[in-house]
This record gives sequence, structure tokens and C-alpha cells, in this order.
Amino acid sequence: MSVADKIREVKGQLPAHVELVAVSKTKPPEVIMEAYHAGQRVFGENKAQELAAKAACLPADIRWHFIGHLQTNKVRMVVPLVAVIQSVDSLKLLKTIDREAREAGRVIPCLLEFRIAAEETKYGLTPEEGESLLHSEEFRQMRHVQIAGVMGMATFTGDMEQVRGEFRALRNIFTHLKTRFFPSDPRFREISMGMSADYPIAMEEGSTMIRLGTTLFSERIDTNR
Ligand SMILES: *Cc1c(COP(=O)(O)O)cnc(C)c1O
Repeated sequence: MSVADKIREVKGQLPAHVELVAVSKTKPPEVIMEAYHAGQRVFGENKAQELAAKAACLPADIRWHFIGHLQTNKVRMVVPLVAVIQSVDSLKLLKTIDREAREAGRVIPCLLEFRIAAEETKYGLTPEEGESLLHSEEFRQMRHVQIAGVMGMATFTGDMEQVRGEFRALRNIFTHLKTRFFPSDPRFREISMGMSADYPIAMEEGSTMIRLGTTLFSERIDTNR
């Protein structure tokens, strides 16, 4: 099946409240354009350099989501290019985004990334860290970031009950933070969870944003999952 057909097929299955982020990391511009011509406008990248190279040669109405671990020294490069940064995993990173966004005259929607997987390798905040970030005086002073929700990655396992439990934990974190910090802020609304192997379960557990690479673009040659 072509990339365009796959995009149309997946989009046709999604309820209106679930957004598709087409994860285009490692994919060349021609392949991204196939998805673009099928109507896809939201793409996810996980490396600053790669994002910059692609953004420079692809249409300006693409909304790029940064979904990878972001080093503070790369923030300046990505801030002018992104619609959303999904992978905020420290107060230090958020402070840097706020500062660079001020320089660029922007307000950047950000998701807080939580570590819900059992694997040690995955980045993300603990629930306590997320809460103390939102409590901090430093966060309250920020004017150039806007917290739009949460993001997480489940364990890479065939045990779908474990995966479901991890997604449920992320939804619970979302609900808790919503109640505690954003009760009257409609912009705090996203639960970004679900990848090619597990997005149907993520949607059952309340995902509002799925991030699909392999399913849309076939096999990735990449060890950096
Ligand atoms: C690569 C990646 C995805 C997409 O993974 P697939 O299994 O190819 O769908 C989603 N989210 C993040 C953070 C990724 O790095």
C-alpha cells in the first residue's frame, strides 16, 4: 500500500478528537511529500538537525512536532520551526524553551513527557517531578511556553495488558494535573500516546494524539525507537 493510501486508511479510522502525527524521522523529503499530498500536515521528528534540514525544503504549512529527547543546546535551532514540543522532560529544558521562545517572539505549546515504561532507557518525568515543575516559581514566571498536555511511550513488549496499564497510568497523570493545575484552562487537553504497535489500545485508554511511523511509512531502518 502506498504512503498516501495508508494515511487515508488510518485517518479514516480515527475519531474526530484524535490527531494523527506522522512520524517522519529517517524518511526523506520525497516520502514526506507523499503523505503531504494525501492531506497530512502534522509530522513528528526527533532530531534537531534533521528537522532543520527538512523544514528548510518542505512546505511552510507543515506543523512539526518535536518528539525526541531535546538537548538544551539544540533548543534555539528548533524553536522557530516547531508547532509543538512534545518531549519536555525537565524544568531546565522548559526554561530554555521559554527563553528562546521569548527571543523568537513566540509562545510554544509543550507537552510534559512522563516515563510510563518499565524500560530504563526511556526519558521522561516521574509524576512527582511533573508536579513539582508545575508548582515551581520558575514555571509560574514563564510566559512563552504553554503546557498543552502530556506525552508518554509504553514499554516495547507484546504484553498488551502491561501496555494498557501504562497508558492508563498516563491518563491518570493527565487527569490529576488537569484537576490540580489547569481546571479552567481548555488548552491543557492532549494525551499523546500510541505508536504503530499499540495505538488501538492507546485510543481505548483516552489518547488524543497518536504518533505513527512504521505503520504509515513501512519499515524504518533505525534502532532508535
Ligand atoms: C519513532 C517514534 C514514534 C513512532 O514509532 P513507530 O513505532 O514507528 O510508529 C512515536 N513516538 C516517538 C517518540 C518516536 O520516537
